[in-house]
Amino acid sequence: MSDCLFCRMVDGEIPADVVLSTDRVLAFRDINPQAPTHVLVIPKEHHRNLGALAAADGELLAEVARAAHAVALQEGLVTDGGIEPGYRVVTNTGPQAGQSVDHLHLHVLGGRGLGWPPG
Ligand code: AMP
Ligand code: ZN
Repeated sequence: MSDCLFCRMVDGEIPADVVLSTDRVLAFRDINPQAPTHVLVIPKEHHRNLGALAAADGELLAEVARAAHAVALQEGLVTDGGIEPGYRVVTNTGPQAGQSVDHLHLHVLGGRGLGWPPG
């Protein structure tokens, strides 16, 4: 989709600070980080939100989830087999949740204490 920001980042038309890339998944740093680690994990194929990807390709959704955990490991937010210090995965769907880019992305957040409930 040529009018999709994240598809354009996958295609290399817009620069991305990439931290992980596989055949089907890309992870890059958020341009407006909300925590010391704030990485977005996306399928390279366009799916508009979590429900759309879950319906279309469950294996790809699992790959995105595995990549989110791999990023957390890479960033030192957890250790192999451990859960310390920890991290949060968020995905927004729709305007009330604050979704601003209609290409599924998991926010991986960590590196500071994260309040609950979120805003
Ligand atoms: P959401 O509001 O949940 O749809 O998240 C979209 C995220 O994309 C926001 O956290 C933005 O800061 C981030 N973002 C927007 N443009 C870029 C960009 N060019 N590179 C990296 N992150 C971006
Ligand atoms: Zn897209």
